[in-house]
Amino acid sequence: MMQKTIFNLDPMISILNAGKVIGLPTDTVYGLAADARSDCAVAEIYALKSRPSFNPLIIHVHDLQKAQLYGHFNEDALRLAHYFWAPAKTASALTIVVPYKNASGISSLAMAGLDTIALRVPNHPLALDVLAKFDGPLAAPSANPSNYLSPTTANHVRAAFPELPILDGGACTLGIESTIIWCQDNNLVLLRPGIVTQQDIEQVLEKTITKAKTDNTSIRSPGALKKHYAPKKPLIMNVKTPLPGDAYIGFGPDYPSAMNLSETGDLKEAAGNLFRYLHTADTQNKQRIAIAPIPDSGIGQAINDRLSRGAK
Ligand code: AMP
Ligand code: MG
Repeated sequence: MMQKTIFNLDPMISILNAGKVIGLPTDTVYGLAADARSDCAVAEIYALKSRPSFNPLIIHVHDLQKAQLYGHFNEDALRLAHYFWAPAKTASALTIVVPYKNASGISSLAMAGLDTIALRVPNHPLALDVLAKFDGPLAAPSANPSNYLSPTTANHVRAAFPELPILDGGACTLGIESTIIWCQDNNLVLLRPGIVTQQDIEQVLEKTITKAKTDNTSIRSPGALKKHYAPKKPLIMNVKTPLPGDAYIGFGPDYPSAMNLSETGDLKEAAGNLFRYLHTADTQNKQRIAIAPIPDSGIGQAINDRLSRGAK
């Protein structure tokens, strides 16, 4: 039988109660988590990340009931939450943006002054334990400096924030940020692709949804910046034949490499390896990062979304 590591979460809870930030593992990527009700705690997240204050944070809660303290869930939002959020069997990484319940206590800095709130129930035992013990909402953007690659291991977080207390939950299982869907009135807009695909959502709701345009001025998703998730080295997409100076990230049997996102061409596996290989490639003694073509369907859309924002 597998040994379960017992974590003493009390020190982390004390840090959160003091309005400070911790590194928190989730199913998607590591987050910089702090009390979403405290302007000071939230300001520390923005400062640590050098994140522009117009880019709102995802608020993490323990369950749908807690989410409903802060957001108005219409029928579509409820259906999605019941289907995708823990403890449902199908639980996966979906953030739902809904109208904010006025005066429910979330720092307006965390929402960048918007009248909507992005809520998510992470599907990760440690994150859920922390949320249960802390008994409050946690603002938790990815634990990386703004615009840089997302962290999928505690070491990635440590490298960026050496002083930060980090709860080490091992490598994240999904390895790519949550899908974001905007649900308000009769509007359903996919703001960010992820492991939960547009087709998955359409199947659950039995409706078609629209995709948000990537543009820096979009009010709906101010954080959907064109430039994001970028490594320090130039990143080139759709490379079938790498140059000698390239750190090459392959995909499938047709584009092999020592760093292959998935030898069998499995897109979910590829999404899980994406940031880890980008981190590795970024620290190699090479001039640029070249990446094999990735099919632009299903989860491939999430991978290409991240790559195109990181590409030079
Ligand atoms: P990150 O925390 O880096 O995963 O980014 C969070 C994403 O959620 C950003 O793209 C934000 O713009 C988006 N987001 C957060 N809150 C809202 C909101 N109220 N409305 C629309 N998008 C949001
Ligand atoms: Mg991020």
